[in-house]
Amino acid sequence: MITDPQSSLERTLFDAATIASRLDALAADITAFYADKPLTVLAILNGSLVFAADLLRRIPLALRLECLSVASYHGGTESSGTVTFLQNSLPDFTGRHVLILDDILDSGRTLHAVRQRLLSEAAPLSVRVAVLLRKRKPRAQPLDADYVGFDIDDTFVVGYGLDHQGHYRNLPEVRILTCVTPAEKGVT
Ligand code: 5GP
Ligand code: MG
Repeated sequence: MITDPQSSLERTLFDAATIASRLDALAADITAFYADKPLTVLAILNGSLVFAADLLRRIPLALRLECLSVASYHGGTESSGTVTFLQNSLPDFTGRHVLILDDILDSGRTLHAVRQRLLSEAAPLSVRVAVLLRKRKPRAQPLDADYVGFDIDDTFVVGYGLDHQGHYRNLPEVRILTCVTPAEKGVT
């Protein structure tokens, strides 16, 4: 994979085979829990696209899929602190159990904001959260995930859906990214 000029790809944390076998286990847990419940999966785009595509094909339930676009990084490598919803209205979750999927739980702001909006506007029967990655760090908001692929240290990672300025989402593995220029560390 060719890197962009301002960054360098470092060590692989999870290769494709490791991710695949972890998804088998996550999908089995999710399938068992939602076996008798009307499930709607809410994928947070763009980051969870690859995770959602691979996970959902391992869940043999009559689920529905909805997507929500949310921005929180705005190009930098540290969370901006603000969560922007790119759609005005939410799908109707009345009578549905909702499983929110995101790529990574970092500060917790994004998933907290999504969950609060769901609970206040969309009246789901329940809300759970599944993430591929969870950073070991204090959260800015009180939120934990019910299903976690892997716990990782507090470093910036890319691949398997996770980007840096739009790059690297198509890497089949999760890797650590180091920025070369100091300006890159600033939030844009
Ligand atoms: P939070 O709101 O939990 O701070 O951040 C969640 C979002 O920030 C994630 O959905 C993801 O888009 C982005 N993010 C957080 N940490 C990383 C990271 O290490 N790498 C990448 N590429 N994105 C991250
Ligand atoms: Mg994201």
